[in-house]
Amino acid sequence: MTHPDRPAAPPLPAGTLESLRESVRAGLPRAIAELSDLVRIPSVSWDGFDPAHVQASADRVAALLRELDVFDEVIVDRAPGADGVLGQPAVLARRAPSPGRPTVLLYAHHDVQPPGADSEWSSPPFEPTLRGDRLYARGVADDKAGVMAHVAAVRALLETTAEPEIGIVAFIEGEEEFGSRSFGALLERHRDLLAADVIVVADSDNWTVDTPSLTVGLRGNATFSLTVSTLGHASHSGMYGGAVPDAMLATIALLATLHDADGAVAVEGLRSHEQEVPSIPEQRLRDEAALLDGVTPIGRGALLHRLWAQPSITVTGIDAPSVQNASNTLAPSITVKISARIAPGQPAAEAFAALERHLRAHAPFGAHLTFGAIDLGEPFLVDTSGWAVDEALAAMREAWGNEPEQVGVGGSIPFIAQLAETFPAAQVLVTGVEDPHTRAHSPDESLHLGVFQRAILTEAALLTRIQANRVE
Ligand SMILES: [Zn+2]
Repeated sequence: MTHPDRPAAPPLPAGTLESLRESVRAGLPRAIAELSDLVRIPSVSWDGFDPAHVQASADRVAALLRELDVFDEVIVDRAPGADGVLGQPAVLARRAPSPGRPTVLLYAHHDVQPPGADSEWSSPPFEPTLRGDRLYARGVADDKAGVMAHVAAVRALLETTAEPEIGIVAFIEGEEEFGSRSFGALLERHRDLLAADVIVVADSDNWTVDTPSLTVGLRGNATFSLTVSTLGHASHSGMYGGAVPDAMLATIALLATLHDADGAVAVEGLRSHEQEVPSIPEQRLRDEAALLDGVTPIGRGALLHRLWAQPSITVTGIDAPSVQNASNTLAPSITVKISARIAPGQPAAEAFAALERHLRAHAPFGAHLTFGAIDLGEPFLVDTSGWAVDEALAAMREAWGNEPEQVGVGGSIPFIAQLAETFPAAQVLVTGVEDPHTRAHSPDESLHLGVFQRAILTEAALLTRIQANRVE
């Protein structure tokens, strides 16, 4: 990763960091209590889950923002997605800057992933439970702690700076976990309200619980369903097996062409991004991802290059006869869900076209292919040349007492590319409250409370730095 060779941002005025640190420390129990209340609302944004919970969660977030008493307006709004269906409620708030002062937009999302089976959780998914340094619950880290980091950081700013002159915008989305379908419409409708010079996206990871990260690269994604068909109807596998190709055989043979013997992606036209990455011991990957004894990593090149800068392809679901219902028949068609990650630098549509080309060219026995539910998200590379990155790195050093890592992330936050497109002059900072043991989206998701405190202090210091240093 690049390290800026510009001079470091100026230090905070004497005593300011200490005041912020004390304010954040004193406010932490309240922030954890408010986070816990928010987490108890099961705001799953997916189809098939009660949208009343997402509405309740939006209302709760709006109340938290109003209580700050800093915004000129706080609104809850829903906009239609591209399919015309009304999206989940987002919360938007704006406080205008004094003339010549910059505006900072604080983004997080208040919706969560489905919890999965209760039996896989060590404590109920929507009852925040403290074990050791960590608070466990669905959404406690991703991303309700992001919401609360914003609230608590603004509170600390207000406690330590009498009359802040910077503009502050909050944009707390309600369907990030369901593909941000109405994000574009919300941006369009509230363009003036959301306009900002710096955008802080608090929805990412930290290097460890002791070392902060600024995320400067994100992979994009292409997900789609693929139906492989070979027969007009099912047939007896004894009478016809051996001469008639069933869809299962064709699907297995086709999917096997996506990777080579090392498990590296073998699709022509899917590109990697040239970049340097820190090196990590294989054991770290093994521990974080829980590889079983004897199971080897896949792919080639530095481990973090594989995760941050190379494409990946995962088959995440399959609709086929279940083992229990398996009769002796040749299946006429099989549907799979494919989730591909796209390296920074490659447009999502180009990557999908490469995948489609590969699959059509490799369909065995003339099998028919149908593609559906295509969902594309753009990768993103942060422009690290602006002053906001310097201020953010300085704030991280102050809050954590450790040199931050500039990292890539294998996951995708496609709306960041949309934000950058709508506000091309804005500087984007991707921060977060997660750490390698958070298990976002999985059972036993958790938040490290030390990381939470340091993330709040980082953001409070960042806002205070911009207030102190950035006069045009
Ligand atoms: Zn998230």
